[in-house]
Amino acid sequence: MKDKISKIVSLAKRRGFIFPSSEIYGGFESSYDFGPLGVEMKRNLKQLWWSEMIKNHDDIVGLDAAILMNPKVWQASGHLTAGFADTLVECKECHKRFKKEEIKNGSCPECGGKITKPRRFNLMMKTFAGPVQEKAATTYLRAETCQGIYMNFENVLNSARMKLPFGICQIGKAFRNEINPKNFIFRTREFEQMEMQWFCHPKTADKWFEFWKKERIRWYKDLGMKKENLRSKEIPAKERAHYAKKQVDIEYRFPFASPAGRRGWGEIEGIHNRGDWDLSNHSKHSGKDLRYFDEETKEKYFPHIIETSIGVERSIFAFLIDSYQEIKGGRTKTTKSTKEVEILLKLDKRIAPIKVAILPLIRNKPELVKIAKEVYKMLKPHFVCQYDEVGSIGRRYRRQDEVGTILCLTCDFQTLEDNTLTIRDRDTMKQKRVKIKDLVKALKEQLEN
Ligand code: ATP
Repeated sequence: MKDKISKIVSLAKRRGFIFPSSEIYGGFESSYDFGPLGVEMKRNLKQLWWSEMIKNHDDIVGLDAAILMNPKVWQASGHLTAGFADTLVECKECHKRFKKEEIKNGSCPECGGKITKPRRFNLMMKTFAGPVQEKAATTYLRAETCQGIYMNFENVLNSARMKLPFGICQIGKAFRNEINPKNFIFRTREFEQMEMQWFCHPKTADKWFEFWKKERIRWYKDLGMKKENLRSKEIPAKERAHYAKKQVDIEYRFPFASPAGRRGWGEIEGIHNRGDWDLSNHSKHSGKDLRYFDEETKEKYFPHIIETSIGVERSIFAFLIDSYQEIKGGRTKTTKSTKEVEILLKLDKRIAPIKVAILPLIRNKPELVKIAKEVYKMLKPHFVCQYDEVGSIGRRYRRQDEVGTILCLTCDFQTLEDNTLTIRDRDTMKQKRVKIKDLVKALKEQLEN
């Protein structure tokens, strides 16, 4: 199974999904860059989440808050105190550090050496705002995007004339000085979050918690994530984040041991009932009354917050793993007799980075190449497309299957006679002929249904 991860890491680099950062300098621990295909996939996922929140639910609005904030925010939120820290131990022999929960039999998991007593390390990333470091204000790169939402609770409430219950959603970078970043893009120091904060009356918080839990699990299933690899897990009080009254993690079955030793299962999204922790603490620290006034009931209270929080990269990793298939002997007659292993990335149509590939049957027939390039030019404004003329047609189909391209169009000799071409479906490998003039409509239908 571990092998599967290295295959995906290698595919991600070879085909331009994910590269190690600053590779020519030997990389930079836990930093990754998204290549041409990765960035499309990432944008698709973010767009899908955004539409889900904004279009499919009433009373959710968006926000894009700054990464750098007044450091008092982090004081009030509890992130600068013991709340946001990992308990670590160090090996006295090899000096590697581990989270306390990673130690199974009292010794170093790597070299078996003796370990130190646990110590707490804060995860906030410190930086300086201002040109002269000594005089500059110390501030922090945000550790979660939601604090920007709480800072704007009143602004949004008043400007967008919202009434409880309502939600604010945001997508953006977050930074954590993780002591033990690992497992490719599963745990990194810089990552992106998609967070929605739902503000509601305290008495309705439990009901909304259940609602959002179901909604969020449905989203993954709807995007094709296999049921058996997905589960929700209620987190007991002693393991919860410092702000959470109730916490359910949506977990994916990763092919590696999870940090807490729960073999395979790792969190991709957290659903938290944050109670009034954030708004009441920010009221106390800032002196600004952030309570909500209900015009109808004349009641004044701190709304309770239900949060849904996903890591973009972590969910991309889960989708890559979930869709990766190896087919021994291949899927076609030409490969069946060989020992070839075909790779198929069966990503949902909406997540797949390339929707359409345009392939001339052979490249040494200028008329075919000319038509194929014209088709490519015609389709480019409508779909994310790729033109490929290198290698045999079978190889090119496989190259596209390997990155999850939904449809392959082939211009062949019949194209020269009747202006039709074939559309090949990634999953069924069935082909049908379509007139070039009807192509945009036909592709839209196939990609949207
Ligand atoms: P972890 O599993 O790393 O302990 P967490 O419980 O600290 O995660 P939350 O604070 O609930 O995570 O953050 C919400 C989501 O943000 C997580 O479900 C995960 O997808 C993502 N996330 C958190 N930390 C990281 C990280 N270091 N690298 C990548 N994604 C992360």
